[in-house]
Amino acid sequence: MIVLVVLALALVSLALAFNAFMEGEEIVAIYLVIIGFIALGLSTYVLMQSRSRAAAMKIETPKTLTTIECKKCGFKNVREFQRGDYVYKDLDKCQKCDDRQIITAIYKEVKEKEKTFPF
Ligand SMILES: [Zn+2]
Repeated sequence: MIVLVVLALALVSLALAFNAFMEGEEIVAIYLVIIGFIALGLSTYVLMQSRSRAAAMKIETPKTLTTIECKKCGFKNVREFQRGDYVYKDLDKCQKCDDRQIITAIYKEVKEKEKTFPF
């Protein structure tokens, strides 16, 4: 919103500068042109800032993983977190030894962020 106001200000001051120039007031015209370009630059700067801030806000939500372990044979399995998972929850029988598997850990996957530069 502020950007639009500043942009409007820039256009108005440039229009006024043109008017002043036509009326022979060259010094006033020059000042108005300067103001116009400063406002124009400011609005583009704010626009760029807000765009980069929007990009920074877009953070990837890390995946939640559940580690399932068989206490008897040590068979370990990692899968995506499912609703209702909790640590020490009994699960289906182990694929290897038929003993019950339990959830031993629930954690968020931490991904090493790739460093990308916009320029
Ligand atoms: Zn087992």
